[in-house]
Amino acid sequence: MTKVAQKIKGYRCTLCGKEFAYDGKDRLTCPDCGEKGILDIVFDYASIKKRLTREKLSANPNFTMWRYHELLPVDGEDFHDFLRDGGSPLYRCKRLGALWGSDALYVKDDGINPTASLKDRASGVAVARARELGYHTIACSSTGNAASSMAGNAARLGLRAVIFVPERAPQGKLSQMLCFGAKVISVRGDYKATFDLSRAAIDRYGWYNRNAGINPLMIEGKKTVALEIAEQFNFKAPDWVACSVGDGCTIGGVYNGFRDLVELGLLDRVPKILGVQSTGCCPFVDAAEAGRDLKPAAENTLADSISVGVPRNPVKALRAVRESGGSWLAVPDEAILKAIKTLASREGLFAEPAAAAAAAGAEKALREGLIHAHESLVIINSGSGLKDSKNALRAGGQPLSADPDPEKLDDLDLGQAGEQ
Ligand SMILES: *Cc1c(COP(=O)(O)O)cnc(C)c1O
Ligand SMILES: [Zn+2]
Repeated sequence: MTKVAQKIKGYRCTLCGKEFAYDGKDRLTCPDCGEKGILDIVFDYASIKKRLTREKLSANPNFTMWRYHELLPVDGEDFHDFLRDGGSPLYRCKRLGALWGSDALYVKDDGINPTASLKDRASGVAVARARELGYHTIACSSTGNAASSMAGNAARLGLRAVIFVPERAPQGKLSQMLCFGAKVISVRGDYKATFDLSRAAIDRYGWYNRNAGINPLMIEGKKTVALEIAEQFNFKAPDWVACSVGDGCTIGGVYNGFRDLVELGLLDRVPKILGVQSTGCCPFVDAAEAGRDLKPAAENTLADSISVGVPRNPVKALRAVRESGGSWLAVPDEAILKAIKTLASREGLFAEPAAAAAAAGAEKALREGLIHAHESLVIINSGSGLKDSKNALRAGGQPLSADPDPEKLDDLDLGQAGEQ
């Protein structure tokens, strides 16, 4: 069993840069900087290199995210009793590429995860670590997917889940949390207020903290999406990866995954990372365009999973785009709805609004010449369209209405193939 101590050297504060050697205790934030002092985990690549090789990977029949457990800060390596997190397909999308002007367009479909979003990759690591450390209750605040994912992954292991959600969480996600048996507290307030209440409860009751902004393990779980993309590209980096951004943990994880592989000598470079937000809530894009620090932004987008006015992980998100030579851009909600329909009707891939934002951003980047037709481009579908059926219906349009009368079939104009 490869213990955490053999995988990581310690932690480094993203604010003050101070390093803390691993002393057998998991850390959340920097003792000097407090809550804003989010930590990076410093991996021991020389040690990991000996155990994680291309040969070992190609001989490994486990295609869940635990295939990469050598790069995950947990003690165990047998996760057979977990939900099957990760291992999602990478689809080549020729029809979508033809429409949007790309010769090498791909979608990494993380909507197929057990609770139907990429968040399962973080929740898998969270419940693994909570169980290893002997916690019985795991808690978080979330705009929806982190919570429903934590609830499902916790239920599978018999852990108790406590969740703080803002009132606006969509029904699909809420129904998951409730059915998974979590204690759900709907907070009358925005996401920031929700987050602060969850932190107070976690401090008071001593639960395991799955808040992705604070717990540095969560990004490491999410990075497995990048590890998979690299392996699915046969360890050649794609040119671009498009990723939607709320708190900034997902995009931070995408960067960390590729960077790990470069450090291990398994990949030549990190792909350029495109960070996409909605124009209704885009603190990162605003800051990048104005060349200043982040300011709190309005939360005014139908893409609930990325409606985050005060992102919890700004340093890691900014670094992902900067260090990869990528870019930031924002797309309006109308473009997001349109992308839901296009992705689904052209390729059979169903995305919730936040996930479709990445696709809409990719389309805009291709149209504006930021990304070229010959460059390989991977869009991450971070959540299933079933998560938010209200907005999916807005994107999808209306069914035809008909009397049950065969004589009137011709009135429906069904003879022509294809609706668009
Ligand atoms: C959480 C989430 C995001 C954004 O991830 P952050 O870590 O908050 O930036 C994007 N899409 C979906 C579907 C999500 O659930
Ligand atoms: Zn610090």
